[in-house]
Amino acid sequence: MFGVRSGTLEWILAVVACAACGIFALVGGAQSSPGLRKAGVTVTTAVPTASTAPVAAFATKEPAPTEAAASAKPAADLSHIGAITLRHTTTVRPAPDARAHAVTQVGSGITLPITQAKGGWVKVLSPCEITGWVRATDGTLITAGGETSSLQQAVFVIDPGHGGTESGAVGPDGVQEQDVNLQISRRLAADLAGSRVYFTRTGRYNVGLRFRALLASTLHATAFFSMHENSGPTIPSRRPGTQAWRQVKSAPSASLASLVWKNIYSSLARYRHVPWVSTAKIGPLARPNTKGTDYYAVLRESTAPSVIVESLFINNKFEERMLQKSDIQDVIASGTANAAKTFVTSGQAAKARPYHVKMDKSGGLPSNCTDPI
Ligand SMILES: [Zn+2]
Repeated sequence: MFGVRSGTLEWILAVVACAACGIFALVGGAQSSPGLRKAGVTVTTAVPTASTAPVAAFATKEPAPTEAAASAKPAADLSHIGAITLRHTTTVRPAPDARAHAVTQVGSGITLPITQAKGGWVKVLSPCEITGWVRATDGTLITAGGETSSLQQAVFVIDPGHGGTESGAVGPDGVQEQDVNLQISRRLAADLAGSRVYFTRTGRYNVGLRFRALLASTLHATAFFSMHENSGPTIPSRRPGTQAWRQVKSAPSASLASLVWKNIYSSLARYRHVPWVSTAKIGPLARPNTKGTDYYAVLRESTAPSVIVESLFINNKFEERMLQKSDIQDVIASGTANAAKTFVTSGQAAKARPYHVKMDKSGGLPSNCTDPI
């Protein structure tokens, strides 16, 4: 039900070597269809990530294909496919046709949400939120995750806030929030090794808010974390001003935000003699807009249990310095990872249901946005 619809998916699934890791993947259903078309497609079901790799090596839980299985070329039910990780710089076209002109290009290692599939092509959204088609063979197709109590099956989408010309908050010493967010996100991915982890942003480039939320939605993420640091008027405090923003009408998001906040806040509060700053609002929080839905676009537009993490105030000179230190980054990352693991292993993620929201207009993109290549 997420991403692609089974009615549009009529492919023969060939066995294709995973170029990134040399592992073969075979996923396919048994049904046949008169509309089957030829397409070489690699599908992965498990994607542990390395510490700093954008979206790292691909593995598969599926058994290695036998020659008989390969020659049979079973038809694939690709309704469970949520995204594609490109394996080379790829041209995005306005139609599923190699003769169609290019609307943009997107680089290797970037994971794009898939909203439709047709004849060996998949419809994607680029980070600059340009819609178009790429061949399924241009990357590795990623199966969606979902509600699970298994860390191995869990899909976590990590969203390093801001990017590119949109730096996020800038500290007094010039530290940009986008960089801190990405560093912490990479540590978080390392802490979640063993689960399947995907990034909305892997470098210093612009990424639309809708793109971020859509990737979590089409991947049917078990949990979605948008990693940020705070900025704004503060007062001196005896404790850190950590915030975790939840989806206003989602009980699983509320549970997740509570877990995230408790883990990060309690770990940071162990640091003594720190001149913390804070606002009146700390804790797990919700911010509705005038319509009663979520004020924050990534929360409003993600169907997955989602949380925005605002650990410290980067506009405060002392906390800006702290945020550059590896132990503080590790505390924030491991606090988030521990919350994610508890959310799954306690059975709360298994009980979650998709958050039904209406897609709004996007935001956070400059008019001259350039996709990463
Ligand atoms: Zn931010």
